[in-house]
Amino acid sequence: MTGKRVLVVGGGVVGLCVAYWCAHKGHRVVIVERGAPEREGCSFANAGLVVPSHFVPLASPGIVQLGLRWMWSPESPFHVEPRLSADLLDWGWKVWRAATREHVERAAPVLRDLHLASRACFQEWAARWDNAFEFVDKGLLALCRTERGLEEEAQVAGFARRLGVAADVLSAAQVAAIEPSLRMSIAGGVYFPRDAHLTPSRLMNALQRETQRMGVQMRHHTDVRGWRVDGDRVGAVHTSAGPVEADEFVLCGGIWSAGLGRQLGLRLPMQAGKGYSLTLASPPALPGVCALLSEARVAMTPMGGALRFGGTMEITDIDERINPARIRGIVKSVGRYFPDLTPSHFANASVRTGLRPCSPDGLPYVGRFGRFANLSAATGHAMLGVSLGPITGKLIAEILSDERPSCAIAALSPDRYAERERSLERAA
Ligand SMILES: Cc1cc2nc3c(=O)[nH]c(=O)nc-3n(C[C@H](O)[C@H](O)[C@H](O)COP(=O)(O)OP(=O)(O)OC[C@H]3O[C@@H](n4cnc5c(N)ncnc54)[C@H](O)[C@@H]3O)c2cc1C
Repeated sequence: MTGKRVLVVGGGVVGLCVAYWCAHKGHRVVIVERGAPEREGCSFANAGLVVPSHFVPLASPGIVQLGLRWMWSPESPFHVEPRLSADLLDWGWKVWRAATREHVERAAPVLRDLHLASRACFQEWAARWDNAFEFVDKGLLALCRTERGLEEEAQVAGFARRLGVAADVLSAAQVAAIEPSLRMSIAGGVYFPRDAHLTPSRLMNALQRETQRMGVQMRHHTDVRGWRVDGDRVGAVHTSAGPVEADEFVLCGGIWSAGLGRQLGLRLPMQAGKGYSLTLASPPALPGVCALLSEARVAMTPMGGALRFGGTMEITDIDERINPARIRGIVKSVGRYFPDLTPSHFANASVRTGLRPCSPDGLPYVGRFGRFANLSAATGHAMLGVSLGPITGKLIAEILSDERPSCAIAALSPDRYAERERSLERAA
């Protein structure tokens, strides 16, 4: 069935992808976004990587120990801001519970299929929209400074091949042959030929333009403040500009979705994972392929003539302030991989920050809530919201159109923690 009135809360990359696909199916879509068309936030600040190679969820064996080791250094790529918060403790406990080999084995094929489906959407959009968002389909290099780092990446490459994701382990000389433009100090790397990259602000502009062309109404500067519930249905959202009614509601508010859900008694465990990006408008050299500086957890992406570095996962409250120590950490780690890139090259870098919406098990929340007949979630994508955005939008549009979802979505249920808690309560 088509032609429903769909209200999307939040116009980040995920909200825009949801709007695009819903409009594509013939629904009448309104996006309510409290920011301006040109705004900050993670959908603009990100590294623009499209990564079928990222099938290992954040919650994986060793992550808690690594996090604890890194926590004490102000310049490390990971930090948990200590604070007395029941939500943070609960989230940490859930990460610890999820960080098992079994979870990784279950989640990896799900993430692989989602990334590959998204990549196909990006390819189609790039062809159709005159590559307005600078999509470059040339793969990604995971660069390793140390032999130990290379061994770890080689294990990921082995896992990737088992899952049917191409991955080649390379010596330093082989990496240099793929990427001759920058002198590197590395032990070697892994090449993932099916990864890609794009320019995030251009993607956001293209999605805003295309959705508008399809009749989607984008209401900027409009804050969603509450909900009107009619029995088992949501009837309207209360906004700063008055109530807006619809037949279907989709929660795409990034990290703010947790608070908006709580107003309805829904539990979407999430913490903000603050990240930073530094963009050099005129870099001394421009790589042709995007890269991950593996040990440093820093992404490097050519964007047109500019070069962006993105990194750091600072688990914080909702706080978008810039912490200079984290910026120093990124700049120092870049110099360790690329001796010709010195701190002076970053003197005029444009620095942006964004809060990634991080679920405890590293999987997004995509699907309908059981408690309401017309409310769905599309959030919790953490460091993968761009890469998983198009398929998330497509899945939501299929669900709202009463079609069979084109990818497996059981593991993405927005009710998964509520259900687990109910069954624990029953067992107690
Ligand atoms: C440094 C960095 C690098 C990254 N690199 C990559 C990468 O290479 N590849 C990748 O796939 N991902 C990457 N990510 C992650 C990616 O950016 C996020 O997963 C993605 O942007 C999340 O999009 P979203 O639409 O869910 O949330 P957001 O972008 O946060 O959008 C949510 C929107 O909802 C609006 N909103 C919230 N509450 C309300 C309300 N009450 N009323 C109205 N509007 C509201 C907000 O204003 C916001 O615009 C990176 C992130 C960072 C920070």
